[in-house]
Amino acid sequence: MTWTRFSQQPRASELLYHSLLNNRLAHAYLFAGPKGAGKKQMALHLAKSLFCPEREADACGACVTCRRIEGGGTTPMCCLLHRMGLLSKSTRFVRCKKKWPCER
Ligand SMILES: [Zn+2]
Repeated sequence: MTWTRFSQQPRASELLYHSLLNNRLAHAYLFAGPKGAGKKQMALHLAKSLFCPEREADACGACVTCRRIEGGGTTPMCCLLHRMGLLSKSTRFVRCKKKWPCER
């Protein structure tokens, strides 16, 4: 699975891909559109692309991290918060990092 998969949303997928590639993601994104437009899949792909250790600015869809995010149960949000500088030295981050080591 790659960003090219979203052929019905080429502008949005290109924007997100280049934002990831240039490390210039916004603090939030709103995925809006009609039912079936691929909002959830694109949001999940963005999350996987942030954490996937196999590809740069994209997701393999097969590694443990991608499958974990796809499953929805144990998204390593602590890694994202750490990268944003919000959990850098707290005990909460230390506990979280033990449970879900940041892979990138
Ligand atoms: Zn992956």
